[in-house]
Amino acid sequence: MFERHGGSDGENSHAVTGTLVHTLVQALAGRIPPERIDQALENAWGSVDLGSDWYARRELERTRRMLDTFSTWLQGTRSELEEVGVEVTVDGMIEPREPGAPRIRLRGRIDRLERDPDGRPVVVDVKTAKNPVSKDAARDHAQLAAYQVAVAEGAVEGEPAAAPGGARLVFVAKPHNKEGATQRIQPPLDEEGLEHWREVIHEAAAATRGPQFLAQVNDGCRHCPVQSSCPAHDEGRQVTG
Ligand code: SF4
Repeated sequence: MFERHGGSDGENSHAVTGTLVHTLVQALAGRIPPERIDQALENAWGSVDLGSDWYARRELERTRRMLDTFSTWLQGTRSELEEVGVEVTVDGMIEPREPGAPRIRLRGRIDRLERDPDGRPVVVDVKTAKNPVSKDAARDHAQLAAYQVAVAEGAVEGEPAAAPGGARLVFVAKPHNKEGATQRIQPPLDEEGLEHWREVIHEAAAATRGPQFLAQVNDGCRHCPVQSSCPAHDEGRQVTG
């Protein structure tokens, strides 16, 4: 709500770079021949304003390295993963916990959907952050888990409901000697795990139904653009008109 009403400065340069990397990552999936990727990157760079020249050049180099890292990861994983789609739409309903309770609509977009050797769908989310999350945090990663629930519910476009084959984060800003890019894996959720995360989704939906929204300190606060205006934090100061 804060952000929608002017609480943030709009997209910062890291967000611009992140969006661009995601776009070009999809291009690498086959829509643009590899030899034209670099040209596409240069063209895209000309259309974004990142302020000073030196900063724009540095970000261009950083982005180029991320795309190289992603390419290496892509080539290295083709023996274990087969591409099903990129930017795959998630849209489906989760049944209510009890009679009379509302159903929950789960919507989103999966960066890459792959299939493992057993034919199970595997969710891949590309991250441009410099610091990968811990292995434990990946196992407990709500976004990945929500996508695995979506797979199980048949909420992924073009895919029937199926047992998920797990999910992974691919950190393209953090190369890895063996794997190309640093990966963090969330193992496939079994029925018990799926049930736990359905419950979490129901709780999140209930907490955001309104009309009141309780600000709750969470891991995302560190990067929150409106932290100085947030009633859950002491930082910031009063502004009088
Ligand atoms: S609780 Fe954290 S994430 Fe939510 S608005 Fe406040 S600072 Fe931002």
